[in-house]
Amino acid sequence: MKVELRQAEDQAEDEPPDQPAPDRLVPDQLVLESFFLSNDYGRDKKSVYVRDKNSGYGRGVTTSRQEREGYGRSGKPKSVPKSVPKSIMESFFGGVTAEDWNDGSWQLKNRLTTLDELTRLLSLTPHQALRHRRLLEYFHYSITPYYLSLIDWSDPRDPIRKQCIPDMKELELRVVGDNDPLEEEEDMQAPGLVHRYPDRVLAVVTNMCAMYCRHCTRKRIWHEGETFRSRTELLAMADYVRRTPEVREVVVSGGDPLTMNPELLDWFLGELSSIPHVEVLRIGTRVPVVMPMGITDELARMLARHRPLWINTQFNHPNEITPESAEACDRLLRVGIPVSNQSVLLKGINDCVDVMKALCHALQRIMVRPYYLYQCDPVRGVEHFRTSIWKGIEIMEMMRGYTGGLCIPTFVVDAPGGGGKIPLQPFYLLSASDKYATLRNYEGMIIKYYNPTDGGSAAASSGGSATASSGGLSAASSGGSAAASGGGSAADVGGRTRAASSSRTSIDAAGGCASIDAGGRAPAGADKLRCLSYVKKTRVPDGTPRAARRNHKGGATPRV
Ligand code: SF4
Repeated sequence: MKVELRQAEDQAEDEPPDQPAPDRLVPDQLVLESFFLSNDYGRDKKSVYVRDKNSGYGRGVTTSRQEREGYGRSGKPKSVPKSVPKSIMESFFGGVTAEDWNDGSWQLKNRLTTLDELTRLLSLTPHQALRHRRLLEYFHYSITPYYLSLIDWSDPRDPIRKQCIPDMKELELRVVGDNDPLEEEEDMQAPGLVHRYPDRVLAVVTNMCAMYCRHCTRKRIWHEGETFRSRTELLAMADYVRRTPEVREVVVSGGDPLTMNPELLDWFLGELSSIPHVEVLRIGTRVPVVMPMGITDELARMLARHRPLWINTQFNHPNEITPESAEACDRLLRVGIPVSNQSVLLKGINDCVDVMKALCHALQRIMVRPYYLYQCDPVRGVEHFRTSIWKGIEIMEMMRGYTGGLCIPTFVVDAPGGGGKIPLQPFYLLSASDKYATLRNYEGMIIKYYNPTDGGSAAASSGGSATASSGGLSAASSGGSAAASGGGSAADVGGRTRAASSSRTSIDAAGGCASIDAGGRAPAGADKLRCLSYVKKTRVPDGTPRAARRNHKGGATPRV
């Protein structure tokens, strides 16, 4: 992204005068080459890459907030009219005490939600206000004071602003896409309870959120206002889970479950935890991002009582990682609740490798694991946020290998029609035969890789070569089976006789799928039977996708 830095013609009068200094950036001679290289929020340091227009000489520059004064994130000079942002915050929340500001209930109570507030916020003309009234009839809005305070009003493309302020494009594009592209309603077994995948269900317990993300996949439930499932409805969900022994994980989502009455949430989580076959609970919430003061020690302790419980949140841009949001995540982590992140790939917000890398690095610093990067769903009123899938793959390509695997999310498309999540990534496996695979590394290096034969299937698929039929496992292939079977003894790896018997063990433990998938062939004899019965048990049956899923009754997209 090239953005010319130019002199601020309309620089606010109250900005400090330009003080030339030897190492000070001179706006009209510099070009901002990239978004930024790093952003250390804790220490208020930001690195950008700048190039001198005349000499062409470029360098990375680390600046403090003070040094950056006068320059917006987009590289344009900050020309902040006197009315924003301070007076906006003052006019809406003037006189608020620090105690109130840091109180989640105060934040909830003081959200901006009305057309009047939006008119004041955006200084809408009467005509614009009329159009926004129509927009709000379709898609309401709500912004917490905290999230509002993160907006850089000098930047019309501010990523926080885009996520929370209603945009007329939502109205213009409301006929594009679907209300429910993931067909969650089709798989509902009780009001709010979606069962799609074999071993997990999704409980939509409310349609209320602290802030309504303009790109939300569940915009369809906004028209119901702000409601919560009653205790009776929650009980009906828990009853369904109790009657369905294959469910081992319940994803509690909404809306945002952390906007619920904590006592009711505590009770519901308790009901779910008391079901013997429910092993894990998961909560999808954006409260740590949009209202971090809502994560209190008390709430964290309550959630911790229902461990194993995982929290998935949704940071989409590094500007959302603030001391407050880091503290909220830390509160959860300190009581033993792992926090993962599910970003949505959003045009003009994070569809850039620099931004995504900065986000994932910042997440790793605050101990939040980047988990998924979702392709934005084809939802009505969201089309303007959608990128091509190539953008996501390109971001993955530019991250894999260039930064640590722990801060690389999986890029997934949630298939329309209820097809579930499909991971996408660049092509690293170029071709493969039984013996060799041709691989590409992140730098484009092409590598011929010897492909060892897998366990018992080697005997069947190789037509019984002396080595394979007598032993079943070579030293190389036994490594994999040892890991799969959990055996891993020296005899497994080195001893042929022992290996022959352990090959069966490995099929039992790993389900034999590796044998089938690796060569595309099932093994022979008894092993074949074992493998096929395993596949029958675990694979979604053939047939139409819809029917298959219905028969299988799976869970749904864990989206906050
Ligand atoms: S994305 Fe999640 S937090 Fe945002 S509006 Fe939708 S349900 Fe609420």
